[in-house]
Amino acid sequence: LVRLRARLARSQNTLGKGLLTLLSREHLDEETWEEIEDTLLTADVGVAPTQELVERLRERVRVLGTRTPDELRALLREELLALLRTDFDRAVKTESGLDTPGVVMVVGVNGTGKTTTTGKLARVLVADGRSVVLGAADTFRAAAADQLQTWGERVGARTVRGPEGGDPASIAFDAVKEGIAEGADVVLIDTAGRLHTKTGLMDELGKVKRVVEKHGPLDEVLLVLDATTGQNGLVQARVFAEVVDITGIVLTKLDGTAKGGIVIAVQRELGVPVKLIGLGEGADDLAPFEPEAFVDALID
Ligand code: GDP
Repeated sequence: LVRLRARLARSQNTLGKGLLTLLSREHLDEETWEEIEDTLLTADVGVAPTQELVERLRERVRVLGTRTPDELRALLREELLALLRTDFDRAVKTESGLDTPGVVMVVGVNGTGKTTTTGKLARVLVADGRSVVLGAADTFRAAAADQLQTWGERVGARTVRGPEGGDPASIAFDAVKEGIAEGADVVLIDTAGRLHTKTGLMDELGKVKRVVEKHGPLDEVLLVLDATTGQNGLVQARVFAEVVDITGIVLTKLDGTAKGGIVIAVQRELGVPVKLIGLGEGADDLAPFEPEAFVDALID
């Protein structure tokens, strides 16, 4: 986790440093506030949250009068944390509370890191002493089932898969059935994210969800978003949220972008918390999202 924090700090540091430098100017004139706004917008914070933040900063800086660097840092920290919502429950729900396995469905557009995230999450759970069954319901992308199975073999989780191009819902159904039969703790279901038709996606994910729920409740639906896709990612998020009830967001590839503001924008858009972040391609590169650590990575 320490190593991941360092990586997060490396990728996000420019944003925080930029803001602090601007706020430290002796005269905070209109132009400087515009620059602050631009910095936030460039980091994908989004229009409404940017305006809110700038308004609050202006007011607080005005009240403060003269400002020391420490005061400015503390102020920025507080306001960023308020936007990031420290009140959200960010635990990934992997327990059903019944004597059946917890069921987690992972959705998102292909290429965002769905399969990788499913594998990394399995690894975290197995390391935590839980038994995991993987459901390879992404039958659209040819290599996805192989990729998931490789993850499964690596981390010690069984993979349930079907024929290429097979019915995702029946694989999801089988995976949960297998999980119940084995007395597994958690079933993770990787799904396909073809976005070209919304109705197609809706039919498919809706069906996966319905068949899974024949066995019992679906405990968590994680939407995987690629942090490097910015506003595009937000549009995708909106479509998925219309199709299934998203309970948490995984923001991947934060190691590859300085635009960490997308965390704020997507939470605002969907009203659900970012629960996990991806900080690399490796097995250990998945971390819980912690607002405090994130803000510290921005401004320290
Ligand atoms: P899927 O189509 O959504 O299942 O996407 P994959 O899981 O196959 O991931 C697509 C690519 O993104 C792969 O090359 C992954 O290694 C890479 N990837 C996934 N998560 C991360 C991350 O957090 N950081 C980086 N740098 N790469 C990632």
